[in-house]
Amino acid sequence: MAKVLCVLYDDPITGYPKSYARVDIPKITSYVGGQTAPTPKAIDFTPGQLLGSVSGELGLRKYLESQGHTFVVTSDKEGADSVFDKELPDADIVISQPFWPAYLTAERIAKARKLKLAITAGIGSDHVDLEAANEHGITVAEVTYSNSISVSEHAVMMILSLVRNYLPSHEWAVKGGWNIADCVQRSYDLEGMHVGTVAAGRIGLAILRRLKPFDVKLHYTDRYRLPESVERELNLTFHPDAESMVKVCDVVTINAPLHPETENLFNEALLAKMKRGAYLINTARGKICDRDAIARALESGQLAGYAGDVWFPQPAPVDHPWRTMPYNGMTPHISGTSLSAQTRYATGTREILECWFEDRPIRDEYLITKGGKLAGVGAHSYSVRELTKA
Ligand code: NDP
Repeated sequence: MAKVLCVLYDDPITGYPKSYARVDIPKITSYVGGQTAPTPKAIDFTPGQLLGSVSGELGLRKYLESQGHTFVVTSDKEGADSVFDKELPDADIVISQPFWPAYLTAERIAKARKLKLAITAGIGSDHVDLEAANEHGITVAEVTYSNSISVSEHAVMMILSLVRNYLPSHEWAVKGGWNIADCVQRSYDLEGMHVGTVAAGRIGLAILRRLKPFDVKLHYTDRYRLPESVERELNLTFHPDAESMVKVCDVVTINAPLHPETENLFNEALLAKMKRGAYLINTARGKICDRDAIARALESGQLAGYAGDVWFPQPAPVDHPWRTMPYNGMTPHISGTSLSAQTRYATGTREILECWFEDRPIRDEYLITKGGKLAGVGAHSYSVRELTKA
């Protein structure tokens, strides 16, 4: 029997919800491109429930305990005295989420002698040292596509909110003002602007598709070109690298995984190449941007706005400059963990566990590493080097 160690974010400070704003959520059975939504044999939760926090337990307790497994759920993940560190040495499976990542560093992996499977309940497994995972033969899997559309919607919202100066204008309304000039002195239309994405994978392409009706000029850069039919449909301009793309864009959105090629990509030098007054939206990973260079670019006016939900480390310290830098639209890491997304990634986590325990193959599109090397979607989109340290 296995010990499953699961790290989730805390419940709401008002307590685990007793009721919800909506009675149901749309049933999504497949995604653009044909991949089906997760298909476990059963689920033990109501879709739309809060599953990503400690009391939600990803809806897994009944299933795991009925099979005789031990299930430990905690939010306490930092430091040698944390529940995570204490429970890790004899855990067979670790489940974690990018929103509240249990960083599986090489040191922790070395101590986790029984660990065989690390599941990311969501997308993005950069909180796992993939090199160490490979050395120890640990399978890493994530629930590909589960929250890609959630993030794309969030990124579009952030683009519009920055360009139109929504957040400061809302604040004027809340504090009783009618200060129209204060609100609009930084407010523009998105129409006609050049918008580019670094990476046009599931999220990047979904953002491009969602932005098309806004009559903007769309650009992208990626390691591989999209099919010609897609480039034509969206009237896309391809750029061989981020540098050539950012030079011509008014809005740039980052949608690549964090790996050695993208770590610190948006540093002082690349930010200096952007159009003055551009907007940068990063819902991919905090470490793709240089923390202090971003704050400086906002202060100097090189960037007109920066928004996103990803930081390093997570949770971000209270004095992290992105909390207070000017013209920011930051939130905690929430874009991929709407209640709708939680239903899908909890369902996908259940599917991966069922496959593991029943000795059935995990879908290729869920695999990041297997048998000591990058596999499945991991082999396509990642490269390996340690990224879990500051
Ligand atoms: P996909 O794997 O579908 O797409 C990633 C794309 O990035 C691929 O097209 C890949 O290229 C491309 N890419 C990789 N390296 C580079 C590079 N150096 N330059 C340009 N493009 C590159 O993943 P998703 O779109 O679903 O997710 C993307 C990332 O978004 C995740 O890895 C994760 O970090 C983040 N994310 C954030 C969430 C949140 O809540 N904020 C939730 C979900 C994901 P190719 O495959 O062609 O090699």
